[in-house]
Amino acid sequence: MEYPEVELLAIGAGPSNLALAVAIEEMAPSDFARKCLVIEQHEDIVWQRGMLLPWAQSQVSFLKDLVTMRNPRSRFSFINYLYETDRLHDFINMSSLLPFRLEISNYLQWVARSLSLVQVRYGRRCMRVDVVRSAAGEITGWMVELSDGSVATARNLVVGVGRDPHIPEIFQGLDKTAVIHSTEYAYRVGMLDHAAPLRVAVVGAAQSAAEMLWETYQRMPAAQCAMIMRTVGLGYYQTSQFTNELYFPSFTDTFYGAPAEARQRVLQEMRRTNYAGVTPELLNTIYRQMYLERLTGQQRLRMIPSVDITEARMEGEEVVLTLTQHMTGQHTELRCDVVMLGTGFERTLPALTRAIADLIGVERFMVSRAYRAMMPATVSAGCYLQGTNEESHGIADSLISVLAVRAGEIVDDLLAAQPSTELLTSIPVPA
Ligand SMILES: Cc1cc2nc3c(=O)[nH]c(=O)nc-3n(C[C@H](O)[C@H](O)[C@H](O)COP(=O)(O)OP(=O)(O)OC[C@H]3O[C@@H](n4cnc5c(N)ncnc54)[C@H](O)[C@@H]3O)c2cc1C
Repeated sequence: MEYPEVELLAIGAGPSNLALAVAIEEMAPSDFARKCLVIEQHEDIVWQRGMLLPWAQSQVSFLKDLVTMRNPRSRFSFINYLYETDRLHDFINMSSLLPFRLEISNYLQWVARSLSLVQVRYGRRCMRVDVVRSAAGEITGWMVELSDGSVATARNLVVGVGRDPHIPEIFQGLDKTAVIHSTEYAYRVGMLDHAAPLRVAVVGAAQSAAEMLWETYQRMPAAQCAMIMRTVGLGYYQTSQFTNELYFPSFTDTFYGAPAEARQRVLQEMRRTNYAGVTPELLNTIYRQMYLERLTGQQRLRMIPSVDITEARMEGEEVVLTLTQHMTGQHTELRCDVVMLGTGFERTLPALTRAIADLIGVERFMVSRAYRAMMPATVSAGCYLQGTNEESHGIADSLISVLAVRAGEIVDDLLAAQPSTELLTSIPVPA
């Protein structure tokens, strides 16, 4: 058992908390930075582990890395990563602003390795959070149980665990082996028999669903792949330089200051710029392949638009989906071996954050402009939420677009909230 006592414990070593670690190293006193710890449940850092497909590209410019929008001179920039790993010329020659997803993932690992003050610990999942109270009953810190059996205490928590996968209730009664959510696709698909004539149903009409369809189709030459969607057909992301300005960090102030109804309206209008579309390259690739299949009469790809899945059940090892047509109300059955869910993420706060709110006796956390959860007066411990504040901070909150600037705002707030007394006397974090 180890009992590290830190100023700040950041849960999850994804882009959000790595950007925070960089901002702490660059903005905070080194005494403070040495008492900051990032924990990651996995043994390594991988960006979008479940969808790390070799050909998939990031959808935002490489200039929106973990730091450049806050500090363009930082040594933690994506450009410096390319330079240090001797790949700058190759990247420039590719003539694209959009790195491969794999390359972003490698960049995140490089950033974590390049930190010199903030510590990153792997293989430590946050299992449970409890509070630390002063003799007067004030909540002054957090006690966090980790999966390796250790407990860490911290004055401040930063939750950056991403969002929980959304698995619609209708699929929850199916055998776990027959259902693959996009967040686990890359490693679960490897367990399927690639030579078998499997019948695969992909549910959803956005980028993740289209990526799963295309990857499965290519990897499994005997598979029949159907894509089931509520919409009338796959559509492109509806984006432009104009709407992209709403992803600027400077838009966060406007959004945060607006009335709730106005924020809802903007989020609704912005949906197709991020969630409900497919990149033109992938959409065109899939369409061309379907065209070729019709030409050669060897059809393995199929689109099933304008339907609701109204029932899902197992019959032996077979999944039976009931599809209800929007136009006719008619029900049909689709039998398949595997269902792949491109159904996105829960809109509610992640289970871990909800558990912390319950602990404090708050029904639902609201966050300040600086991402600090608003607490009752009896709580002096800090808790910051990253990546789950779309409703209050705008559509860019779950994306890479704002996280360099957001990290700086959190560090400013943390330092301003530091008590005038000495920093916590800390037991060094063991290696
Ligand atoms: C397929 C896909 C593609 C995307 N592509 C883009 C893109 O091109 N551009 C863009 O801007 N955004 C993209 N996004 C949005 C994405 O959410 C952000 O890019 C970014 O990953 C958010 O970072 P994060 O650190 O907040 O969360 P995450 O990236 O989800 O990282 C969370 C980390 O926390 C760890 N963790 C979770 N629970 C615990 C626990 N209890 N204890 C310890 N560790 C834990 C996880 O293992 C993970 O490492 C994409 C999302 C998906 C799903």
